[in-house]
Amino acid sequence: MARNFLSPLTGSFAMPAAENPTVAMVEAAYRHHGLDWRYLNCEVAPDALGDAVRGARAMGWVGFNCSIPHKVAVIGHLDGLGESARIIGAVNTVVRRGERLIGENTDGKGFVAALKAITDPAGKRVVLLGAGGAARAVGVEMALAGASQVTVVNRDPGRGAELAGIIDPQTPADGRYVPWEPRYKLPPGTDIVINATSIGLFPDVEAMPDIDMDSLQPETVVADGIPNPPLTAFLRAAEARGCRTADGLGMLVNQGIVAIRYWTGIDADAAVMRKALADLGL
Ligand code: NDP
Repeated sequence: MARNFLSPLTGSFAMPAAENPTVAMVEAAYRHHGLDWRYLNCEVAPDALGDAVRGARAMGWVGFNCSIPHKVAVIGHLDGLGESARIIGAVNTVVRRGERLIGENTDGKGFVAALKAITDPAGKRVVLLGAGGAARAVGVEMALAGASQVTVVNRDPGRGAELAGIIDPQTPADGRYVPWEPRYKLPPGTDIVINATSIGLFPDVEAMPDIDMDSLQPETVVADGIPNPPLTAFLRAAEARGCRTADGLGMLVNQGIVAIRYWTGIDADAAVMRKALADLGL
């Protein structure tokens, strides 16, 4: 019987890398779907990124994720960008297409996929809290998924206005920036509010975005990008008001599903991947 000991290679380049659980989630999916593929979690320093990408090319890697601090710098080592990665200005997933390495961004796509289990973004008025890397990806993908309006609420006006200034001319959505005043009041008619800041991330688990919770209507869908803990204080408070919610673990799992689809062509089982993270205590 002919045997093939050559496993297709994927992985991640980041620094630090040790606490990134993606390898457990992706390899659980590979095993579950009977794929003899590997996902190598690699610690790559900023000045070694070019060598790492050349190494991946030389070894015929099918693709790789990029995390902090490489999401912008990696663009200079690639052959092209997908639509949303170009608008966002950052890449977290690289895909080999023929001889070309193409940069994609799955953070926002994963968020939208997880949200769609609860509500369709098309035609919705969205309030986006935050304007960092995650917020840029989520805001652009919500706009490309058909949201009619994305209101960026951010503490730093420069970053907030920059994100609104990307969404408005480069997507069909109306993008606007609003300064984050204390006890920010959600505008009436807000369909979806998203926490894309780092507020509520472990260990600061009781922290909440500073919004007037009395302005949150039960019809509004509330989403949080924080994966750890998935049930944030913000989501608990929203559920207490009768809102439907989407958590950051759903975003994490779904961005993995999008990456696996780019690399292998298969639709990975979300429950298997979520369980792999739960088994780690996430
Ligand atoms: P950045 O550092 O790029 O951005 C952080 C954002 O949070 C900024 O908008 C910042 O505002 C805001 N912020 C932080 N603290 C406060 C505060 N006290 N009050 C108001 N605003 C605040 O981080 P990322 O965008 O990369 O990541 C943000 C979060 O998203 C992280 O917690 C990360 O875990 C999560 N994430 C989740 C993913 C998932 O798959 N679930 C994927 C990627 C990220 P300002 O601009 O004013 O400083």
